[in-house]
Formats: sequence, C-alpha cells, structure tokens
Amino acid sequence: MDFIRSMVARDLATGKYDGRVATRFPPEPNGFLHIGHAKSICLNFGIASEHSGGRCHLRLDDTNPDTEKAEYVEAMKRDIQWLGFDWGEHLYHASDYFEELFGFAMRLVDKGLAYVDSSSEAEIRERRGSVTRPGTNSPWRDRPIEENRELFRSMRAGEFPDGSHVLRAKIDMAHPNMVMRDPILYRIRHASHYRHGDDWPIYPLYDFAHCLSDSLERITHSLCTLEFDNNREIYDWLLEHVDAPSPRPEQTEFAALVLEYVVTSKRKLRRLVEDGRVRGWDDPRMPTLAGLRRRGVTPAAIRSLCKMVGVAKTNSRVDVGKLDYAVRNDLNRIAPRAFCVLEPLRVVLTNWPEEREESLTAPAFPPDVGKPGERRLPFGRVVCIDQDDFREEPPPRFRRLSPGRWVRLKHAGLIRCDSVVKDPKTARPVELRCTFEPEVVGGRTARDRGRRVTGTLHWVAERHGVPTVVRLYDRLFTTPDPLAEGDFMDALNPESEQVVPGALVEPSLAGASPGAHYQFERHGYFFSDPVDSWSGRLVFNRTVPLRDGWARGAPQAAAPKEVPDAPGPAATPAAAAPKRKTATVPPEARARFDELCALGVAGAAAASLVRSPGLDALFVAALPSCPEGAGALASWLVNEVAGLSAGDPAGTERLDPAALAALVQSVEDGRLSHRLGRTVLSALLAKGGTFEEVQAGLDLAEISDEDVLRAIVAEIVGEHAEKATAYRNGRTGLLGFFVGEVMKRSRGKADPRIVSRLASEMLAE
Ligand code: ATP
Ligand code: MG
Repeated sequence: MDFIRSMVARDLATGKYDGRVATRFPPEPNGFLHIGHAKSICLNFGIASEHSGGRCHLRLDDTNPDTEKAEYVEAMKRDIQWLGFDWGEHLYHASDYFEELFGFAMRLVDKGLAYVDSSSEAEIRERRGSVTRPGTNSPWRDRPIEENRELFRSMRAGEFPDGSHVLRAKIDMAHPNMVMRDPILYRIRHASHYRHGDDWPIYPLYDFAHCLSDSLERITHSLCTLEFDNNREIYDWLLEHVDAPSPRPEQTEFAALVLEYVVTSKRKLRRLVEDGRVRGWDDPRMPTLAGLRRRGVTPAAIRSLCKMVGVAKTNSRVDVGKLDYAVRNDLNRIAPRAFCVLEPLRVVLTNWPEEREESLTAPAFPPDVGKPGERRLPFGRVVCIDQDDFREEPPPRFRRLSPGRWVRLKHAGLIRCDSVVKDPKTARPVELRCTFEPEVVGGRTARDRGRRVTGTLHWVAERHGVPTVVRLYDRLFTTPDPLAEGDFMDALNPESEQVVPGALVEPSLAGASPGAHYQFERHGYFFSDPVDSWSGRLVFNRTVPLRDGWARGAPQAAAPKEVPDAPGPAATPAAAAPKRKTATVPPEARARFDELCALGVAGAAAASLVRSPGLDALFVAALPSCPEGAGALASWLVNEVAGLSAGDPAGTERLDPAALAALVQSVEDGRLSHRLGRTVLSALLAKGGTFEEVQAGLDLAEISDEDVLRAIVAEIVGEHAEKATAYRNGRTGLLGFFVGEVMKRSRGKADPRIVSRLASEMLAE
C-alpha cells in the first residue's frame, strides 16, 4: 500500500472525515490530458473506488479565460472515460463557484486580511524579495478596510483596466515561504470566458480558487504533485481565515510521473501542435491520452504502467521502456498475429506449378496465449518476403535467407535460395529463385532430411497481399530530458515518424476495421489508424516493436521474436552504429556492448543491459552459473526482471544471481515452462531466496506428466470431433484452439509445449 492509501485508511480508522472519502481530479482545460495526468487519474479515481461510498469529482479548473476551451473539456471527459474511470454525477467547474469565491474574498477584506494593491506588476515582483532577502510592504498595504471594499467592488464591476489593481492577502512580506508573502488572490482580466462570457472582469488565482473549490465540494483528500509543496501553507491559511467548515480538506503531494524522452506539459504540447511539428493533439507520437490511443496503446497498459510506477514522495524519471513493456504485455493477449512485409522482395518457387494455389491455415494466436481463432493464408508460386530478411553476402551471425541456405516460411514450408535476380542499374536484388519443400516429406522432418534451417520468416503471397501504408514510430525527442537545456523544440527527433508506403499485409486483413490491434509477426504490434484508414485502404501505426530497441540506429529488426537465435546484422555493433545524432554512445558503453554481443547476447538486449548498470551487474554475477545461456540470461534480465521489478527497485537487490541463473537454466533445459519461470521470478523478486526454496514453496505442480496430459488432450479432442476432422482436412491452424482448451481445462497448469506436441500427434492419427 502506498503512503497516500495508508493515510486514507488511517483517516477512515480515526473517523477524521466521518467515514467519507472524496477525492478530485482537477485539470485545467487548456489542452489535452497526457500520460502524466493518467497517474493522477488512476490515483484519485482509484482511491475513491476502493472505498464504499467513496467518490472522485471531475473538476474543470477553469479560472483562466485566456487559454481554456470547451473543446478541451470534451476531450478530457472522453479521455478519462476511455482510461476506464467515471465521475458519475460529480462533474464540476471551478468557474461555477465565481460568486462564492468573490464572497470569500470579501470576507477576507472585511477581516482586514486582504487589500487592493494598485502597484504595477513589476513593482509587486520587485518587492517580493527573494529566498534569502525578505520582501517589503506595498505602499497600499494599509488601505482602510472600507476603501478596499469599495475598490474590490469596482474591480468586479469592470471599472478598471487590466493590470491596474490586484487583490492580495495580507499575511507577511518577510515570510520564509515566498508563497505566503501577500499572495495575489484576484487579478483584472477583461476577456471572454468559455462558459461565462463577459460576466466576470476579475479572475481568482489558482491558490485562492483551488482550496476553496475543494472545500465547497467537501473534498477530503486533495492530492497534487510535489511542486505544490510550498502551496500547502496558503491552502490551509485560506481555509482557516474564510472560516471554512471542518473537517477541512487537506493537501498531500506525490511525485509526478515524468517519463524519459517525453514532455508532459499541456503548454509545451500545445506549442508542438500550434507550430505544426505534429499533426494534432492526437498525433500517434504525442504523449497525450488521445495520441497514445491512436497509436494503439490500450487503457489497460496505461493503468498497468501507473501501477508499476507506484505512488511515492520522490521525483524520478521513468524509463519509457516500462510503458512499452506494459503495452506488449497487454497486446500479446489481445492482438491476433498476422504477416506484413514492409519492403517486399519477390520469391519465385521454381518447383511449384504455375497455377497451383493452396489455402493454408494458421492460428490467430500462438499456443501459449491459449486463444482460439485461425486465419487463411493463400500460398502459391510467388511470395514476398522482407528485403531485410535476405542478404546476398550474409554477415557472420545472419540467420535469415542467403544463397544456398534453407529457411522456413512460417506455416508453409522450407525454401532454399538458388539464385538472385538483380536490377541491372542498382544491383539490388529484385527477385529470388528458390526451391520449395514441405516441412515433412514422407514422414521425415527437415532435420531428418539433413536440412539445416537457419531461420523462420514471415511472408505474403504476392497475388493476395493487400497494399498498406505502415507508419513506424520512434521517440518524439532525442534526449531523455528534453527540457534540460535550451529550447525543447530543438530536441525533437526528425525521424520520429517513418512512413512505409508499399507494405503488403496478408489477405485476412483486407476487411480489418479501423481501430484494430494486430501483431505483425517479427515487426511489432500495430493498430489500424481510426482516422486515416478507410475501407479499402488501411493505415497501420506501429504501437510498439516486439523488443526494446535502444540500439536502434537501424536495428528495428534486432532479435525478432519468432527467431530467438537470430540477432540479425542490424544488431551487430557495426550496424548499430549511430545513423542519427541521438546515438552518441560513450566508448565504455560501446566496449561493453561489444563484449556482450561476443558472449552471444542479442543486440537489443545488450543495449538494454548497457543502459541499466543494475541489470548488467546481475548479469555479471549470474553468468558463471549459466555459462551456456548468456543470451537467455540477458533476455530474462531485460524482458522479465526489468518488467516485473519495475514497481519495486528493491526487488533486484533481493534477487540472488545464483537463483536467477538456476531459473534461466531450468527454463532453457525445458524443466520449467517460461510461464512458470515468470511466476518463480516474481516470487524471487518479492521475497528473495534460492531457486529451489521458491520453487518448492509455490504451487507449481505444472503438469508435465505426459500420460496425464495425453488423457486431457484426448478428452478435448473427443469433445470437439468436428474441429478435429477439420484439422485433419488441413485446417492445422486449429492446433492453437486445442492447446488453448487443454490449458483451460488444466487451469493453466499444463506445459503448453508438451500439450502442443501431444495434440498435433494425436490429431494426426
Ligand atoms: P500541465 O503542465 O500539463 O498543464 P498541470 O499540472 O498544470 O499540468 P492540470 O490540468 O492542473 O495540469 O493537472 C490536473 C491534475 O493532474 C493536477 O492535480 C496535477 O497535479 C496532475 N498532474 C499533472 N501532471 C502530472 C504528472 N506528470 N504526474 C502526475 N500528476 C500530474
Ligand atoms: Mg498547468
């Protein structure tokens, strides 16, 4: 439980607010909500929902006529609901309290606690003093109460021009807290308010309006970010001196969510929009909730990020990789798999008859997701693969197609490249002439036939591929802290969006609707753009690549998921070399990166380790206990340890390197499934201990006894005779369905790999 929730629980226990919990989320409608606001929304609405009778108000803090708009109010409501929260009947506007606020100000004037200051803005600033120097009193400070009343009334009646007077609280110009040096409560502003038109020529300032709005709404816990620390004193002072009813709301501060490579400030985001540096508030590169939604980020992923980050009292920058991790975790279960070739390269299967076409089936989800569904993949003499998946002269660890090698076309069969046809002008390969072989020939697998298959590729039949526009996204800013120096606009990444015009997707996506998630195998998660797609022409935004790609100078393709042993050329140090100004990697980091690659760690994982000294230290400590598994160890560290320990930095300190090594080794040897491995890892991060202890303490009775599993598989196959027949008639994509059913029946305890094997054996009978 975080410190705010503990406080709320304590207040409930002591009856401080008569058992009430009322929070509020008070955005100013001067822009769109962003990922930082999500943290505050999850916290405020979350706490309210955790207590019976708890409520969270949505209050538009609209006391500044210059920047606020009804359009922003609507966007905010839409985004909060999208994120999964509901204010019910508790929608309020601070501007609706203008009359009451005026009354409170008058009460302070009557008590001699507020005065009209007729100094200029510059004079007021000059007399405030500094942190080390006390301020000096304004010559207007001792105006008689009656004169203050008169003047304040005339201000309200619109009798003075902007800037001629302000209303200030009379506190102490030598107060150690600068906020308390006679803060301004009201200023004159002749401007039209989006709700109240020209009714009001004076507007209250934040410090005045905020605490009183909280009090009027009978808020109990007023939660805000740390920079308002100094404002707590004026918050309490005002409530006390206007005689606000008790129990009074209290302000508590927590750390704002600050993400690396991201700017969260409505004002700054508005500049990007107004200067046309992005296409709008909902540009998929924007950290606004609308932008994230359009990119394909799910509300569940954002909520899970907020949970991971937790609520603390110390500011820290959060690695954007955590958001990516949360997004992948959610989309893995939601997004059906599909093939998309970004830059098509023709492959002609010379031994495949000209007119022969087959319709293959493939599962919509891999077996470990355990969800049903399948798709049809037409297959014929000409298919397209990605240009990137072929190299005429393969670099050392290239595990894809090159002349003379065999690779697998996923779900179809094997091909060997026999010759390359090139464009005579550019010498670029334009067509590969290949031999096709089924995966199994006369009962003999590829390996039985002595075929060394170097990788597995995705593909699309040329005649059936659907032309598609694909947009790949990178960080919007090139530096982790874009506000650190100079103008943040100079830190914009000129390559934050790359449009790929000639991609081909498999035909099952021809009817995809806008706003649908897919995993394009080996490329990442994509979302059909809800605005730019229309029937017959889809535009896909890449929500997130499959792996952390810090080493991205180019290496988007690094360590593709379906080919775990293929760190591709892009992941080698040479290819990762900086193509853009961002990748100024210090020499020590570069050396460590090379060392890790030499140990067999994939490029993207190596890059992540270099960036996270804590994880790299664990890697170094654990490596001696699993010397053969450096690649796997690194992958566990950057993908699982980093993700699972994200909300709890102490977790990695508790994690015994030897236990981690034993865990990785068990998974590598197939003694433990990856899934249960994650369960063990969570326990190791939470409690520490050795691998054996933790494994013994968990209910991990994973069913790997083949006889038991065979019985369950037989049961399921028996219950779905029609599907079994369909499978035998070639709809092999149904395998995923059977595995999924077995997983369900075993309540997740079965080892999916064994189930998959047993089911395919049994269904083949
Ligand atoms: P911005 O600078 O983006 O306009 P703000 O704090 O001025 O942000 P408000 O509209 O006043 O924006 O914010 C509404 C609520 O959201 C406030 O309670 C504020 O504390 C909270 N909030 C804003 N940014 C963050 C953030 N990065 N992390 C957590 N909470 C935030
Ligand atoms: Mg603001």
